[in-house]
Amino acid sequence: MLEHLKEEVFRANLELPERGLIQYTWGNVSAFDPESGYFVIKPSGVSYEEMKASDMVVVDLENHVIEGELNPSSDTPTHAVLYQTFPGLGGIVHTHSPWATIWAQAGQDVPAMGTTHADTFYGTVPCARFLSQKEIDAGYEHETGNVIVETFQERNIKPLDVPGVLLHGHGPFTWGKDAASAVMNAVVLEEVCRMNFYTRQLNSYAEELPKRILDKHYLRKHGKDAYYGQGK
Ligand SMILES: [Zn+2]
Repeated sequence: MLEHLKEEVFRANLELPERGLIQYTWGNVSAFDPESGYFVIKPSGVSYEEMKASDMVVVDLENHVIEGELNPSSDTPTHAVLYQTFPGLGGIVHTHSPWATIWAQAGQDVPAMGTTHADTFYGTVPCARFLSQKEIDAGYEHETGNVIVETFQERNIKPLDVPGVLLHGHGPFTWGKDAASAVMNAVVLEEVCRMNFYTRQLNSYAEELPKRILDKHYLRKHGKDAYYGQGK
């Protein structure tokens, strides 16, 4: 079942090392099928050289394997929480890409300092807090999802406006309308973290992008009055 989605998820996973986002198997991509309520995710710990589209695992939102020979990614419960809580997500990516992970390890939000950021993320990409011992014991990956949800709720950020987050001391999660756009958002976040680092080094007082320019860039590509590109 969901053969088409397995192919999409497989290709999106291969893109992680191709785009320089990951080493070894330090990443995972999934995609959601709204009709069945299932999602397709990379198997755990299989090398990218050996992986096939048919190895992708079909899982339900309670983390039960519906189809597949291999164990799903250990981060599956985090993906499930996000699909369950953030309506409209079609794909999710997790990596330990170095620049985003540097910001995550520094425990810093990623401010919108340029239009590269504003074209994809409508404002600051938040850094979520460390998990408590209680949360780790209760189910680390599931609670990681809950901490992401808490971050967006507390700060009143719409997940479709800011399709990504950093986890303090860990790395980024990004999402999008499908697996490919979630990967693209992971690449943008990585680039933005790299550029912001150098911007701050060059001028530690560098200003964040003014709201009027953030609005202009984000809204010309997203939302009802978008006009950027070929109008698809
Ligand atoms: Zn991780």
